[in-house]
Amino acid sequence: MCGGTRTGMCPHTRKDLPMSKLSVQEMCDLCHSIAKSKGFWDEKRNIGEALMLVVTELAEGMEAHRKQDADNFREELADTFIRLFDLCGGLGIDIEAEIMKKCEKNKLRPYKHGKIC
Ligand SMILES: [Mg+2]
Repeated sequence: MCGGTRTGMCPHTRKDLPMSKLSVQEMCDLCHSIAKSKGFWDEKRNIGEALMLVVTELAEGMEAHRKQDADNFREELADTFIRLFDLCGGLGIDIEAEIMKKCEKNKLRPYKHGKIC
């Protein structure tokens, strides 16, 4: 269906694991495989454009917040993660490992990281 993933299985057809129990890597694989199946990776991705599309989802979240539309706010946050997971999947980034590394770094930083806000 989607040509497989880095974890070696197609998340579209995986039946043994509920969606809510997917690991971060599996979420990346799922989001990337869906984006690939919809043609978003048919040509080489422009990374700057892909990053700015993440920002557009955050902006949509801001608009939903301004309208006090909680359902849409949650959906836009989901869109943000979907675009990030797709990008990580497409670039072969182990974002779970990167997040864990950065959390360890952050634990050693000072209060408010030495800034006022
Ligand atoms: Mg959106």
